[in-house]
Amino acid sequence: MIHIGSFINGKELKGNGRVQQEIRNSYSGSLVGMVDFSTTEDLEMAIQGAYETFEKVMKHMPAHKRSLILRKTADLLEERCEEFAQLLCLEAGKPICAARGEVARAVQVLRFASEEAKRNDGELMRMDAAVGGEGRIGLVQRLPIGVIAAITPFNFPLNLVLHKLAPAIAAGCTVVLKPAEKTPLSAMKLVRLMMEAGLPDGAINVVNGLGEKLVPPLVTHPTIKKVTFTGSGAVGYKIQKMASYKKVTLELGANSPNVVFPDAHLETAVMELVKGGFTFAGQACISVQRIYVHRDVYASFVDLFVSAVKKLNVGDPALETTDVGPMITLEAACRAEEWIQEAVSQGARVLTGGHRQEALLHPTVLTDVKPHMKVVSEEVFAPVVSILPFETEEEVVAAVNDSDYGLQAGVFTSDINRAFRLFEALEMGGVWVNDTSTVRYDHYPYGGVKQSGIGLEGVAYAIKEMTVPKFLGIRLIN
Ligand code: NAD
Repeated sequence: MIHIGSFINGKELKGNGRVQQEIRNSYSGSLVGMVDFSTTEDLEMAIQGAYETFEKVMKHMPAHKRSLILRKTADLLEERCEEFAQLLCLEAGKPICAARGEVARAVQVLRFASEEAKRNDGELMRMDAAVGGEGRIGLVQRLPIGVIAAITPFNFPLNLVLHKLAPAIAAGCTVVLKPAEKTPLSAMKLVRLMMEAGLPDGAINVVNGLGEKLVPPLVTHPTIKKVTFTGSGAVGYKIQKMASYKKVTLELGANSPNVVFPDAHLETAVMELVKGGFTFAGQACISVQRIYVHRDVYASFVDLFVSAVKKLNVGDPALETTDVGPMITLEAACRAEEWIQEAVSQGARVLTGGHRQEALLHPTVLTDVKPHMKVVSEEVFAPVVSILPFETEEEVVAAVNDSDYGLQAGVFTSDINRAFRLFEALEMGGVWVNDTSTVRYDHYPYGGVKQSGIGLEGVAYAIKEMTVPKFLGIRLIN
């Protein structure tokens, strides 16, 4: 059994009466690991260690060395891909095939960061563009911001941690990481791997424990220069308020919409939307949640969709054949089940699923839903998809935009003009055409509008948010 504590200045601190928490597999209930929660003193040491390592080591480390550490970590992770995938499967209840996919993406994030570490430069400016600026040149260099507080969620315990750690190291920053309390094991294993790849002690320190206890003193600490958070809006906005004058990135939730027009390739749309709605039991911020289907193809789409969902293998995440495993906790599954029941009591129809065995919520498809129902208007974050009919492009654009969120959308159409019209009209951080909202690659600018977030991830974009432009002006005297 794995037993972790805090990781500070290259050493693990545990025992000595620290509060312990069990990590259990949400499918079998088996004990996967123990975590010793960090104390206030541990947190202070972690911040101090990150500060000293920034001042003495990381801000002076050449780009080629930072790049090499990231590349070596990628190579090590690739070698140990299966070990990490098995751990993700155990601690998060993520089906093993999806867990392998997460590790493969994490390797890519590290490789992107390794490349970007060498590219993170500035610009040369023409000062004579301004009246009176003649005889001068300007230079802008992006410098690492300093110590970063990174707070991460449970659903991608490896890759979303890396979306913060890898750009931070590429930029020359140091980090105090607070992983989700439900899934801290893979984060700790990752940080050890980075150390093995040559990362200096203190460059990444990990504290573990409850967010409400550790996060306020972390984000308000004067040494912390930037806060990067991925998680729910309820927590994210509290953090933003606490962080006050600091730079903050928030990657938050959504109720992701997808639109199917009559000219779409229907079989492709169905296949991709089923994948996008139910992978990791719908527990992704961009999971397909609302599907708007044109009336002309609505009946055939619903038939094809429901019969494909009925074929999904539901059950033990450790099995190679499992498509849909358990939700992260029993409480999470019960909450989603209540939302389904509430929708049914308001007139929705369950075409398949809707029932639960412990933390396993069976893939659920709803029709006859109304915009105000929670399963439509809020983030369901569960294997629950609603299908809604529409008639006109204007109507569907209005329905999609009638949301507090705006992260990603999918549009299925073979009309390129329509694709561009929707790209412009949808209030989203990103739009995929002939792919679903759930698709993500790790290098493009990724972030939400409205209540889906502030700032961007996607390695090069995250590096920008972790550096500050500093200007040097030079007057040439002949
Ligand atoms: P969460 O907000 O409950 O927890 C995220 C982190 O915040 C954890 O580390 C947790 O310990 C900490 N935390 C929890 N309560 C806190 C409090 N009161 N004060 C301070 N910190 C606290 O989120 P979750 O359940 O782990 O993850 C699911 C959410 O994350 C969903 O809303 C999902 O959409 C979102 N998410 C967004 C993205 C994105 O890139 N936009 C990616 C993944 C997940």
